[in-house]
Amino acid sequence: MKKPPASVWPLLCAAMLLCAALLAGAAVLFVADDAPAESVSVPTESASVPPAPAEIEPSLLPDTDSVSITIGQSCTPGITMLREGADGAEDVENQELIWKSDDPAVATVDGSGSIIGIGAGTCTVTAACADHTAVSAEIRVEVTPHADITYIDGILIANKTFSLPADYNPGVDSEANGALNEMIEAASGDGIALWVVSGFRSYNTQASIYSNYVARDGAAAADRYSARPGHSEHQTGLAFDLNSLEQSFGATPEGQWLAANCWQYGFIIRYQEDKEEITGYMYEPWHVRYLGKDIAQKVFESGLCLEEYLGITSVYAE
Ligand SMILES: [Zn+2]
Repeated sequence: MKKPPASVWPLLCAAMLLCAALLAGAAVLFVADDAPAESVSVPTESASVPPAPAEIEPSLLPDTDSVSITIGQSCTPGITMLREGADGAEDVENQELIWKSDDPAVATVDGSGSIIGIGAGTCTVTAACADHTAVSAEIRVEVTPHADITYIDGILIANKTFSLPADYNPGVDSEANGALNEMIEAASGDGIALWVVSGFRSYNTQASIYSNYVARDGAAAADRYSARPGHSEHQTGLAFDLNSLEQSFGATPEGQWLAANCWQYGFIIRYQEDKEEITGYMYEPWHVRYLGKDIAQKVFESGLCLEEYLGITSVYAE
């Protein structure tokens, strides 16, 4: 190979310098190109993390948007809660609901959605999700009088002549219960201890109690102190037995306080002494019936039992 002439050396050096400069420039360009590639890799990594789940509100679907019941009847409409998920709507089980009636004088509703007819009229019962109170469903409730229930002068009657149907199941009347608590508190202030032995009894409970008494004492004896099913005043939700189911209770300070004062709280001693022929029941100094303050005062001041006051009988048809 022929050696390059000396005059070419400066040219070669210049070419080598140019090459070095070009390589350095390429390296700079390569680094410069690489930098944005690294910065876009950040969103690429975050794209592999699932997005934060959006708050999906559930919806409530009642089985029905309206119910019609009679006074004292109860019903529990079903309600389904749905939550829209990725796979479509799915049931949400064991979801806590808050139930409310906009007119408890027409119908009440308890925490499990059991609606009870209280008085004739219409109202709206609302179920709301406990953790999404803005999510709710409404059920229109119509309450009509029960054809087989007797009111005389506005007073619900349950005695031997007038019975209640088996599906009359109102539970303890809330107004009567409030008055009872007021009376117990007032008695306590007078140093008298009163307590509830028995309150509301359903038709079926009374049927069981009565048949036990008949088995023990025979029907004629049982009819003097225990009501046949449908005839018990305890099924009205307006009667309470207090302290002791012994006639001697009437002579105790508690029994005497009750007889003298219960009218002030809307109650009467329902089965008075020496009125068995009229009321159909033996003397029960422990059994009080709620009538409201006005009527209770009138009945008390009359000295009459409720049958005499209203001019009705209490005799079984057969
Ligand atoms: Zn009783």
